[in-house]
Amino acid sequence: MKEASAPAIEARRICITGVVQGVGFRPFVYRLARARGLRGWVRNAHSGVEIQVEGPPEAIRNLLDAIAHQAPVAARVASLAESPVAIDGFEEFFIAPTVESARRPTARISPDLPACDDCLRELFDPNDRRFGYPYINCTNCGPRYSIVLGLPYDRPQTTMHDWPMCDRCAAEYHDPADRRFHAQPVACPVCGPSYELEAGKRREQGDAAIAATAALLREGAIVAIKGIGGYHLACDARSADAVAALRERKYRKERPFALMVRDLETARSIVSLSPDASRLLTSVQRPIVLAPSTCVLPGVAPANRDYGIMLPYAPLHYLLFSAGAPSVLVMTSANRSSEPIAYRDGDARERLAQIADAFLIGERKIARRVDDSIAMAGAGGPVVLRHSRGYAPQVVATLPAHRPMLCVGADLKNAVTLVVDGQAFASQHIGDLEHYAAYESFRETIDDFCSMYEVSLDDALVVYDAHPQYVSSEYARSLGRRHRAVQHHRAHVASVLAERGAFDTPVIGIAFDGTGYGDDGTIWGGEIFTGSLRDGLTRAIALLPAVLPGGDAAARHPVQAAAGFLSALDDLPDLTAPPFAFPDRYVKALRVARSGVRTFVTTSVGRLFDTVAALLGFTRAITYEAQAATWVEYLARSSGDARPYPFPLCDGKLDFRPLLQAIVTDRQRGRDVGEIARAFHGAVAAAVCAAVGALGAQPVVASGGVFQNALLVEMLSERLGARLWVNQRVPANDGGISLGQAGIAAMG
Ligand code: ZN
Ligand code: ZN
Ligand code: FE
Repeated sequence: MKEASAPAIEARRICITGVVQGVGFRPFVYRLARARGLRGWVRNAHSGVEIQVEGPPEAIRNLLDAIAHQAPVAARVASLAESPVAIDGFEEFFIAPTVESARRPTARISPDLPACDDCLRELFDPNDRRFGYPYINCTNCGPRYSIVLGLPYDRPQTTMHDWPMCDRCAAEYHDPADRRFHAQPVACPVCGPSYELEAGKRREQGDAAIAATAALLREGAIVAIKGIGGYHLACDARSADAVAALRERKYRKERPFALMVRDLETARSIVSLSPDASRLLTSVQRPIVLAPSTCVLPGVAPANRDYGIMLPYAPLHYLLFSAGAPSVLVMTSANRSSEPIAYRDGDARERLAQIADAFLIGERKIARRVDDSIAMAGAGGPVVLRHSRGYAPQVVATLPAHRPMLCVGADLKNAVTLVVDGQAFASQHIGDLEHYAAYESFRETIDDFCSMYEVSLDDALVVYDAHPQYVSSEYARSLGRRHRAVQHHRAHVASVLAERGAFDTPVIGIAFDGTGYGDDGTIWGGEIFTGSLRDGLTRAIALLPAVLPGGDAAARHPVQAAAGFLSALDDLPDLTAPPFAFPDRYVKALRVARSGVRTFVTTSVGRLFDTVAALLGFTRAITYEAQAATWVEYLARSSGDARPYPFPLCDGKLDFRPLLQAIVTDRQRGRDVGEIARAFHGAVAAAVCAAVGALGAQPVVASGGVFQNALLVEMLSERLGARLWVNQRVPANDGGISLGQAGIAAMG
């Protein structure tokens, strides 16, 4: 081929995988190719985007370079492969029809995107035909995952199929030079969906509906507002009465409410934002970001250091603020108690009738519920606490798995992971499966994922938690033909290793959390492993086992867990007396703990945190998961450094008895509870480091719900530096379990 008369023209086939559909990739390639005088085509294929290009070699080089360096903001190129092909003699460059191949669709569907600057400019331009239109979008922004009904991502396969485009929208959609070229959800006030307000018998449409909603919110009303992945319940966060009414009607006593603020400036007026936190807040994922509050909004986040805040992301949110809605809104998932978020109109009307004073309902259907995500700026970078809107269904890891795997996670904070062609797709947050509606949603999400990625469960390995009583495990065993159970805490550690692709690296894996089923049938949650993903993780060190009187209820009553842990002390004073003032439940639980009847054995560090919370004054029941532990962290933050309590490692066990004995004594002496909480955190960090020191110089992996505690992670990070590996893409809590299951099962 390489002869003197080398052709001046060559042809190349380029295959790109990653998040390249629904993010304006084809028009982007089209414009680049045209600008360089190249000919050929670009098209969506099942595996991503394919390009065939003909022209001078240097122009093709230049095109490849531009694709790699100027891709649209929401695109994520995972791989780019090129190969020479025969010259076809195309006359121009065009966008070719999507291929309907028999191959599995591993093209990654984009998460939902916030309104882009160009669309926002039009939204507020009185001369633009989409002025004030809440469904404005373009190839760079708008809904994706929440409207997709199937792949490949094309309009007939979205919830916009009910809305035929008007001539002007169609012209934009078909014009390669237009920002809306092949923007699947494109619409305008003439042809597209609209919003309606229902307030009692009153009805308002379009602009009037938005203006009336803003007015209702100013007056202190609670309004159910349809968003991108579900309904929110909104009210004025500065109105203590509105917030209190929302708590009462929603049966939500203390769990913090998320806030939506008008803009970054408003955010800075209520929380302190580090540069990392504001980057996270303004990122295309637009998560709820936890940041330390600098003002008091009564009832929003009782006894919590942080507020969870987010910026507007849907055009509707921007319109509400511009129509005069209060600049800080409570925007909480619309549900009762901790049921899954409502996303279907009929269901929302029914379930929220006793909560909302009015409904702002958009006509565009939501294909699946996608809650707001939660993230924070951690010691080692951004930390995802709830992987949902803006993140799902992204690929969170690439695994050496050739056959598909469905990993169903755990029963709490459930999320599932589907592995197809080695790509691990993590679902949105589903919730706690003890609620029937969440369990239904769990099954729907599995069906949804399997049909979207064309996986037949008969060919798939189905992976679940080893807990014999988890409903997720029971359901998993009813699916498919090949099954594998994975121990909970190994899955926590594996979730970090899977994210990093560290399949063979020997590590020290620390799994500290609330509850998980251990190898020996006891309740684990304070385990330190050695080994690797490939060779397996062996338990080397654990918390000294404690008794837990009365099983599950002990997780809701810190004094009940305390009775179990404290019954191991030699010198236990009467804790019903001040300053402890433990209630009767403690006395009964202590009796049970000492009798040994109806008690369980546990190594749970989560319950150790609960015990300390009880000793420091948290003697009532918790009303949401990890509430007591979060409170201990909050107390610890109020104090400066304090010398860690003793928490020795003896014979492979971390002995909590000297630690608790010292806390009891300090409390009796009247030491400041913040200082005690600080010294306790220091003790846990020091104990981890002592254990690590005894096990070697390997990287230290830390996962499990306890590591949502940012102070603890900061302390470990100070001591261990880059040797500490924590979760980056999936949550350290049980939301990350399904990825860990995938990591372990992928090793065969
Ligand atoms: Zn846009
Ligand atoms: Zn139109
Ligand atoms: Fe867990």
